[in-house]
Amino acid sequence: MALPRSIRDLSERFSSLPGVGPKLSNRIALYLSISNRKLASRLEDSLKDVTAKIRLCDNCFNVTDNESLCEICDDGQRDKSIILVVETPLELYSIEETGEYKGVYHVLHGIISPVNGIGPDEIRIRELLSRLKSDSDIKEIIFGLNPNLEGDSTSLYITNEIKDLDLDIKTTRLAKGIPTGSSIEYMSSQTLSDSLRRRDGVE
Ligand SMILES: [Zn+2]
Repeated sequence: MALPRSIRDLSERFSSLPGVGPKLSNRIALYLSISNRKLASRLEDSLKDVTAKIRLCDNCFNVTDNESLCEICDDGQRDKSIILVVETPLELYSIEETGEYKGVYHVLHGIISPVNGIGPDEIRIRELLSRLKSDSDIKEIIFGLNPNLEGDSTSLYITNEIKDLDLDIKTTRLAKGIPTGSSIEYMSSQTLSDSLRRRDGVE
């Protein structure tokens, strides 16, 4: 006998979440339907809330519930001459936790990955280049992308595009101290702070 239809439907939705397999999704669906209905209704409210309020910042594409600019872009104390480029808002928040970085960001929402059919036009590279063209105060771009083949080729692609613009902008990346294959999201604040301070130029 299979689980009732509505629980199966719910479980199927959970199984499309990153890192959730069919066993865990069944368990969560059952837990919410029988054991913790209060949590189920809170989840319902939270999901409605995020889908209604969360949008992307007009400037850096970070997540925000503000009208046009996120809190970082809107903050007069941040150094607008340095932009740290990240793949997703998760890396942005890991770097914010270090308390070390006072510049602003640009969230690409992806990484160039030919095997997955993701080219430069699928992520927010054009938007970054437009920012650089329209704001002559920008002096440095730091790549905070994960140290793997896709991260490196994305940094290189953007660096070449910036060179073509012929602007006086330095491109750097987090120091090589970050082990290859590791992920910025899971790095300690100390390691991240160090790699920010000791950043290298992108050739
Ligand atoms: Zn922003």
